[in-house]
Amino acid sequence: MKSHPLLNKLMLLLLVLAITPSAFAQNKDLPNVVILATGGTIAGSADSGTQAGYTSGQVGIETMIAAVPGITDLANVTGEQVSNVGSQDMSVEIWLKLANRINELLATDDVDGIVITHGTDTQEETAFFLNLVVKSDKPVVTTGSMRPSTAVSAEGPLNLYNAVAIAANTKAKGHGVLVVMNDQIHSAHGVTKTNTTSVQTFMSPMHGLTGAVIYGRHEFYSKPHGIHGLDSEFSVHGVTSLPRVDIIYSGVDTPADLVDLSIKAGAKGIVIAGVGNGNMNAATLAACKKAAESGIVVVRSTRVPTGYVLRNAEVNDDENKTIASDELNAQKSRVLLMLALQKDRSLEDIQKLFYTY
Ligand code: ASP
Repeated sequence: MKSHPLLNKLMLLLLVLAITPSAFAQNKDLPNVVILATGGTIAGSADSGTQAGYTSGQVGIETMIAAVPGITDLANVTGEQVSNVGSQDMSVEIWLKLANRINELLATDDVDGIVITHGTDTQEETAFFLNLVVKSDKPVVTTGSMRPSTAVSAEGPLNLYNAVAIAANTKAKGHGVLVVMNDQIHSAHGVTKTNTTSVQTFMSPMHGLTGAVIYGRHEFYSKPHGIHGLDSEFSVHGVTSLPRVDIIYSGVDTPADLVDLSIKAGAKGIVIAGVGNGNMNAATLAACKKAAESGIVVVRSTRVPTGYVLRNAEVNDDENKTIASDELNAQKSRVLLMLALQKDRSLEDIQKLFYTY
């Protein structure tokens, strides 16, 4: 059946109205929050409520909002589907789309806060990336769940409720990107996933919790560490890709040729998830020194879950031309280095970034 051109135009207009901030007409006394859905277990489903296996990114944003009683009492909520992937498949392409959409939405007076639903596997990386490139001090909150939407005691709806409550609150302004899971509020800088299956997986081992939330009521304990948001020098406006940075995980007798293989494959930066205080075996350190002398930026981070990687402590960074990650884990070091390598910087400048972000 052929559709009438006028009908097509009307449909298009309705679609535009549905996804632009002007869709917030409902209650003028409530803040306006946009939920950007990217997928993950919060949108996952399984055949039974007790199945350990499930497929991420199955449920659309409208269904997710409908599953949260009382959410519309907190804010005028609208949803957009940015992607629908398990976060193991999160990509730079989706990051750029997400960041630019957030910046576009937050630049309007009609949007007061943003919630991003996301898989938990790489949530800390996305949160940290956005922390560095969102150009607004309005609340931006990521959330997800460990149990799929079909599970017995799925925690996604409460996490989403709590995330919207925080995104709707002006007190959350200026905190950078927050990760809200399991009644806790974490900063993007400090948070990391610590358990493969438990709902109590996110922790902030170096700085502790940013706050707590119980059925939407919340309290902030501290301001997040590190430069973020409006104070960040990084931008992805008009950016279509980021330089390749690889992580090499250290262990006993790790082959040093992994460094050369990475560089051959196009890496401009390498992060070593080192043992202890950012250590690696002598052959790998020699390969890293050679790489650094040829212009590849090498950051020493650690596979240890907490603690600093100290410059010129066990490893002489001056001599090896390496960067110490300070308190960023390997995955967040990689995010910072990808952004840092967008332009030419001296090693001193890059080291400073690791001290300040
Ligand atoms: N693999 C899932 C993901 O990150 C796990 C989760 O969301 O909990 O998308």
